[in-house]
Amino acid sequence: MRADQPKDVVENSAPSGDELRTGRHLTRRRFLQVGGATAVLLVPGAQALATPANPGRLPEGLFGLGVASGDPLPDAVVIWTRLAPEPLALDGNGGMPSRKVPVHWEVARDEGFRQVVRRGMFLTAPDLGHSVHVDVTGLASDSWYYYRFRVQRDISPTGRTRTAPAEGQTPGTTTFAIASCQRFTDGYYTAYQAMLADDPDLVLHLGDYFYEKDNGPGDFGRQHLPIGECRTLADYRVRIAQIRTDPDMQAIHAAAPFAVTFDDHEVSGNWAGDIPETGEAADDTLEEFRALKAAAFRSYYEHMPLRATQRPDGYRIQMYRRLHWGTLATINLLDTRQYRSDQIYDDAAAWDPNRTMLGATQQQWLLDELSTTTATWNVLAQQVPFLEDSVASINRNDKWDGYRVARQGILDTLATGTARNPIVLSGDIHAHRGGNLKADFQDPGSATVGAEYTGTSITSSSGVVGDQPITAAHNYDPDNPHLLFKGTGRGYARFSVTPDTWTGDFRFVDTIEAPTSPAGTLATYTAYDGEPGITRTSP
Ligand code: FE
Ligand code: CA
Repeated sequence: MRADQPKDVVENSAPSGDELRTGRHLTRRRFLQVGGATAVLLVPGAQALATPANPGRLPEGLFGLGVASGDPLPDAVVIWTRLAPEPLALDGNGGMPSRKVPVHWEVARDEGFRQVVRRGMFLTAPDLGHSVHVDVTGLASDSWYYYRFRVQRDISPTGRTRTAPAEGQTPGTTTFAIASCQRFTDGYYTAYQAMLADDPDLVLHLGDYFYEKDNGPGDFGRQHLPIGECRTLADYRVRIAQIRTDPDMQAIHAAAPFAVTFDDHEVSGNWAGDIPETGEAADDTLEEFRALKAAAFRSYYEHMPLRATQRPDGYRIQMYRRLHWGTLATINLLDTRQYRSDQIYDDAAAWDPNRTMLGATQQQWLLDELSTTTATWNVLAQQVPFLEDSVASINRNDKWDGYRVARQGILDTLATGTARNPIVLSGDIHAHRGGNLKADFQDPGSATVGAEYTGTSITSSSGVVGDQPITAAHNYDPDNPHLLFKGTGRGYARFSVTPDTWTGDFRFVDTIEAPTSPAGTLATYTAYDGEPGITRTSP
């Protein structure tokens, strides 16, 4: 951890001693347009700008959804909150009046906020669901910070976050974690308690952050919402806000930055591009489904620590993007939902060359990167399993197995060896799985060109809620020798990364039926620099 001063002082920074003496800071103020909402950046000590809104008296407990941060860059990180004194109010307004509200924020080096390095004000509004997204810039690379928000006398919990290492820097051992699939009513987020203890540098959430509907009544004391399948902005807001009322969810968000991407259930089960598949949405017209996507994306943005550049434009949202972790890792966060061809139910059709998973633009964006990257570890962080699984399952063609020519295009590029140490990360199947990427899955003798880790669900099960047997099986499928490990039970995966090794722990919790649980590691598979694929290293 470094704690040197940021090199460049930006407009929304606290004035330095020199600046205070010269009064130079007094001119350092400006208005920024942030995603259509006006963010007013104030300099402490300067004459206060006219407040563009007087929110009047507000309810207490504005910060009931906690705080979060995300998408760290070497000099910036997004900090987030949403004002919602009544997060589950069914009108989706969170108990807020229909007025704009100025939200003050500050970022410090220390938890006591004695060394504040940036502060400012964000004017939030009803059309943002009273969410706050501040892209805090001008920070030092590879450094931890603390942040908090204030509205009137109400002060948020303190969050901790960090910036990425500088370009060209090789950081020390880095801990990444992946999470996916966390239906609220299926159980408690004990997996996040374990993840919190891991002290991750970055958490990648790979989708199904919430579900558009519950399986049934909640159990184990988990609250069941009096709404069915999400059909409106209010429905989506309430469902996703419910996730953030959870203390373990709030604690992990407050402890580390997240980088998120959605899967299907943030909109509707197994949707593909403009095509719905399940539930009430299945009967939607094109116009209706696009309106549903617009509502879903809007609520998703409102609740996630995303940059304002990702604020959705109607039924479109820019989700795929790239994060760099010095020379150590480049993380390609993919969008496997908005641009994909519809699922097929005939395996032969999976080889149709016209079928796309990423869409032509994203596929090329990825292939260009994989052809030029110089990072040690090249990560594809995405939703659905990439590895071939020849065991037919009902949902199989929702995965990359249903998009084989598009997958082969990526494998062919990896086979050139330009992208060092490819690592695919995925979720979606509510089970752990680890295996090797083959240049040609039809030929077991073909070269291994990378590895995939699939992390099990935080809580979601496909049927019965609550605990399921915890099992671990190695080399479990003779028909698919590239599939090395499968584990069941609830948990997540954790990665300890150095320039030489990528060590992946398949983590489990004993129970999600109680608010706390012991945790452990089912198996560890390690990748070594320059040797594509993973090897079992424990137990
Ligand atoms: Fe899921
Ligand atoms: Ca899914």
